[in-house]
Amino acid sequence: MTANKRAPKATATEESLHRIFTIPEAPDSTLGRIEQEISQNLAGFLGDHIVAKDHLLTSIEKDFASSAIPEEPAYVSDHMHHLLDKLVAKSVHTSSPSFIGHMTSALPYFILPLSKLMVGLNQNLVKIETSKAFTPLERQVLGMMHRLVYQENDDFYQHWMHSADHSLGAFCSGGTVANITALWVARNNLLKADGNFKGVSQQGLFAALNHYQYNGLVVLVSNRGHYSLKKSADVLGIGRDSVIAIPTDENNRIDCTKLRAKCLELRQKNIAILSIVGVAGTTETGNVDPLEEMAGIAQEFNSHFHVDAAWGGATLLSNKHRNILKGVELADSVTIDAHKQMYVPMGAGLVVFKDPSCANSIAHHAEYILRKGSKDLGSHTLEGSRPGMAMLVYASLHVISRPGYELLINQSLEKAHYYAQLIEQHEDFELITKPELCLLTYRYNPKQVQLYLERCCENEQLAINQLLDQLTKFIQKRQRENGKSFVSRTRIEVSKYANRKTVVFRVVLANPLTTKAILNEVLQEQTELAQESISLLPQLFDKAISRL
Ligand SMILES: *Cc1c(COP(=O)(O)O)cnc(C)c1O
Repeated sequence: MTANKRAPKATATEESLHRIFTIPEAPDSTLGRIEQEISQNLAGFLGDHIVAKDHLLTSIEKDFASSAIPEEPAYVSDHMHHLLDKLVAKSVHTSSPSFIGHMTSALPYFILPLSKLMVGLNQNLVKIETSKAFTPLERQVLGMMHRLVYQENDDFYQHWMHSADHSLGAFCSGGTVANITALWVARNNLLKADGNFKGVSQQGLFAALNHYQYNGLVVLVSNRGHYSLKKSADVLGIGRDSVIAIPTDENNRIDCTKLRAKCLELRQKNIAILSIVGVAGTTETGNVDPLEEMAGIAQEFNSHFHVDAAWGGATLLSNKHRNILKGVELADSVTIDAHKQMYVPMGAGLVVFKDPSCANSIAHHAEYILRKGSKDLGSHTLEGSRPGMAMLVYASLHVISRPGYELLINQSLEKAHYYAQLIEQHEDFELITKPELCLLTYRYNPKQVQLYLERCCENEQLAINQLLDQLTKFIQKRQRENGKSFVSRTRIEVSKYANRKTVVFRVVLANPLTTKAILNEVLQEQTELAQESISLLPQLFDKAISRL
């Protein structure tokens, strides 16, 4: 806005409010211009191949400091400029091809106009009265995803997909809610109504344990399980300590011998196993548990077998690689996030159930809504009001199609293998976990130090690893601040260093536009940052090298 032009002031009147709820007719209306400007700005932002400009969070907080609700309305155009300036310009370029640190990645562009359709229609999937065609669409999407996992025949889906009293799954906002839903279903089935006891859903956990005479209730998962399982245990009333972590082998997969031993011990103590959870694509290392073997153990102990495939589930779309998840079809329930490897925007998670009656244990009916026998989706979901996100999964499955997804997934995996190879060939980097899916971890570790680590005593190893942790943190932080590329970091137990929790870089390859050249550049930048930091950590190199 120019200084010499006096800005007209917006006012809150009935007329102005009426106007913002009315469809703008003229193609050159203000709102039309605003939309155009937003599209241009967004295209500019998304086309910018950097990951983030260097803004201090504390300085950004100053832009969001006032707690007063405005007493004066703003013009949309003014407010848009405010948003572009204060918010958009300081957000993260998750779509950048050099942003390879997280499971949140680029979206295909057709999602943008289609999301507008979804938002504009504002359908509420809780009940048919507010969603109509969106309800059968969501049931179809759940059917498709169920078929992806369980591969039942046409008759099966014909029979169950649209059945009022059954559900093949539940659509929700993400993997966390999907996992909570799965364990909620498992809990209510385990502690169901029996004689005078009306079931845990009605009488609660205390009465349920009393009735069934259990000394406790636990969930078993590998020590690579996602933290959402602890949240689930917390909200379901069994407590976070009741999620028991079973050790993993050197490939980050659950040790089934230890799992079975734990089950036997629990049986002795009369503690019920609410669920055994297999992870198909661990968040930190991307490994897949031996699902077939776990299913056998779950069956032996009569426990609900859940597979958390929030991230890795999309691999089933690749005929070449779906075998990595062999045994997933034996699970009672499976979580998949469409907003991870299916390139759908956030807010799209789901859980599918092998048995279409399984979720009846959480069914909830109310008079004005969700009447018995209705097909309202809200009767089997944790959330109430819910947007029509299933439409975007539906659209992606149609526009990209199964073979299209297969290409995307195969490419990501090939790229992960290529990057792993780059790391292994570079003598100053150390690959920590090999990619089973498109995720890997590694660190900078100069050759001499690597050699020394192999033969020094445990105390020295510890001291050196502590210094290397600092180095990894330094490089990762500096790389993020430089803003050209981004990898994340985490701490994982590394078997060759006596299972010490070690700081590592974590890379998730999902963006189809990430090229081999970009991967080379990321590694090159890390090498340069490492050289720079060696002067800051002289002890590390002096000590190690002098002893060789
Ligand atoms: C991401 C993830 C979750 C949580 O999903 P949200 O969509 O973030 O709620 C759960 N489990 C695994 C294995 C994940 O990777």
